[in-house]
Amino acid sequence: MFASSPFPELLHHAILWLQAYALVLLMMGLGALLERRWAATLLQSRAAQRLNMAYAGVYLVVVEAAKPLAAAASVAIVNAFGGGMVVLVSHGWSAVASLVIVLLTIDLLEYGFHRLQHTWPVLWKLHSLHHSAVDFNVTVTLRHHWLEVLIKGCLLYPIVGVLFKVEPWIVGATSIVFMIANNIAHLNLRVDAGRYVTWVINPQYHRLHHSIRAEHLNHNFAQLLPMWDHIFGTRWIPAKHEWPATGLDDGTQPGSLLSAFAWPLGQHAAHDAMPARKAVALLDEEAK
Ligand SMILES: [Zn+2]
Ligand SMILES: [Zn+2]
Repeated sequence: MFASSPFPELLHHAILWLQAYALVLLMMGLGALLERRWAATLLQSRAAQRLNMAYAGVYLVVVEAAKPLAAAASVAIVNAFGGGMVVLVSHGWSAVASLVIVLLTIDLLEYGFHRLQHTWPVLWKLHSLHHSAVDFNVTVTLRHHWLEVLIKGCLLYPIVGVLFKVEPWIVGATSIVFMIANNIAHLNLRVDAGRYVTWVINPQYHRLHHSIRAEHLNHNFAQLLPMWDHIFGTRWIPAKHEWPATGLDDGTQPGSLLSAFAWPLGQHAAHDAMPARKAVALLDEEAK
């Protein structure tokens, strides 16, 4: 007996990666079109954007590679705690209610984990890669450290399986909602949402989470619904002309794929950093 060839399986994963990367590039392309028309800040580094796009490709390789591990972790956790405490209906109009329940649950979990990312030093070392973006735009959407994929996939998302017994298509539908919301949140887009700015995530609301200003620190953690920030006292309601510069205090950010990949090990090394450059907030300038 010959061992079965791993080639078809590798090809299958490669096709899935390619589809995911094509979708990400499409989202970034659509976002870039909007950003060109209604940019919030004009000075956007092309090099940083290219690096983000390349990093997104590597990031998605890790996402694809981590799927079996995340699936195994989910099964182990669900078996350990007894999965599907609440059975959600997955057909008819009741499926809409199930979708909303799963959406709210994942959004709350994301909010809680995001708070931890800003509280626990070891998680901040990873998450600071995302916050290092001086140029805030749609290409930053997937600039998350690859280890975070493993942590969330193996420890955070299985909680949904422990809580609910639900058809996979409902979980899949929620992931599409979060994907679109994440791309919108990182747009370098000057849109005035007016009184609706705290209803659902939008570029100005999330930009304040990335702000370098001290008063914005530890605010606006929400991934989809700002109501969590309101409930837990971390909401900052953006003023009409509040479009702050973004990035880390010292302007450190990765200058290569390797330094992004190994970010927690070398984020404070001077040779590792691109020259710090403050983004120009047009509306701030106008407000002066
Ligand atoms: Zn954050
Ligand atoms: Zn962000």
